[in-house]
Amino acid sequence: MIHEVLPVGMLGCNCSVIGDEASGEAIVIDPGDDVAEIMAILERRGLKAKMIVITHAHIDHIGGAEKLRSLTGAPVYMHEADRMLSDRLDVQAAWLGIEAPRNPGIDTPAREGDVLRAGSIEANVLHTPGHSPGSISLYLPLESKLIAGDTLFRGSVGRTDLPGGDTGQIARSIRGKLYTLPDETIVFPGHGDTTSIGVEKRSNPFVRL
Ligand SMILES: [Zn+2]
Ligand SMILES: [Zn+2]
Repeated sequence: MIHEVLPVGMLGCNCSVIGDEASGEAIVIDPGDDVAEIMAILERRGLKAKMIVITHAHIDHIGGAEKLRSLTGAPVYMHEADRMLSDRLDVQAAWLGIEAPRNPGIDTPAREGDVLRAGSIEANVLHTPGHSPGSISLYLPLESKLIAGDTLFRGSVGRTDLPGGDTGQIARSIRGKLYTLPDETIVFPGHGDTTSIGVEKRSNPFVRL
């Protein structure tokens, strides 16, 4: 499997491009900005975006989604519970002092238990609310990888002081759905370095097992 991680935008959101060599099908996760660079990765790797996945509707994760959709035709996959955030991209842009991007809307609503496919790649969708009501994580069992959005970080967890955040809920999401994955699962957080489920279970100071 091809997996490129590109930090995009002023907040350095980790955008992932995952692709299947044989079929050329790809899924782009969290195209927050720098769409030209994302397009260059797809082109260089000979990939065609089949779906755009938004782990949650904070502007640093969703900001480039409408532009990428118009360039690729790929549908936007996101949880309905984050509409309250994507409908207020103007407010989010004002916090950062940047121009508001266009709202991509939702083409395919994300649901717990969905399995996303690109060629032989399988990604299981976990609804992991707490950082935002509609936060999702993608678990790729064949690759032992978790794309965690802003739910779980190396040595930290997502902030819960923004609209729709819930401290009890993020702890339940992490304990109930992420810490139950195999210890060797490599975690790709929405910002910063990778970690593993085993390391976080043992040492994360915010959410202990
Ligand atoms: Zn966020
Ligand atoms: Zn973020």
